[in-house]
Amino acid sequence: MDLKNLYRDVIVDHNRSPRNFRQIEPPRREADGFNPLCGDKLHVYLRVSDDRIEDAAFEGSGCAISVASASMMTEFLKGKTEAEALDLFERMHELLTGEEADLNELASLGKLAALSGVRQYPSRVKCASLCWHTMKSALSGGDAVSTE
Ligand code: ZN
Repeated sequence: MDLKNLYRDVIVDHNRSPRNFRQIEPPRREADGFNPLCGDKLHVYLRVSDDRIEDAAFEGSGCAISVASASMMTEFLKGKTEAEALDLFERMHELLTGEEADLNELASLGKLAALSGVRQYPSRVKCASLCWHTMKSALSGGDAVSTE
C-alpha cells in the first residue's frame, strides 16, 4: 500500500466513523466554524483544565475532508496544553499551505499527515483547516469563524 492510499483510507475512515462526534457538557469552551465555499459547518467543544485540554469533541456537517480533519484533530488535542494546541495549529497551517512537506514533520504529526495531500487542491485547504481555526477561536474567546 503506498502512502497516498494510506492517507486516503485514513480520511475515509474518519469521515465514516468520526471520533468524538458529540457535545461536551459545560464548563467548556466552544466556537462555530463555517466554510461558505464548501458549506462545511462545525462546532468545536473543548474542556480545558489547568491549561490542559482534557477533552475535545465536535458536531456539525460537511464534506469528507472537513469531518475527517475535525475527527483527527479532536483525537490529537486531548492531553495537550493550550500552547501545544496553538503550536499544532501553526504546524497544520504550514502542512496545508506550505511549499513542501518536511518528512520528519509528517512523521511527527502521525495520522494528521494524511491531510497533507490537500495542499494540491487549493479549494479544499479551507475544508481541512476549518476545524483548526475553530479550535483556535474556542481557546481564545469563542468568536464564530468564517473562512472567507
Ligand atoms: Zn469542505
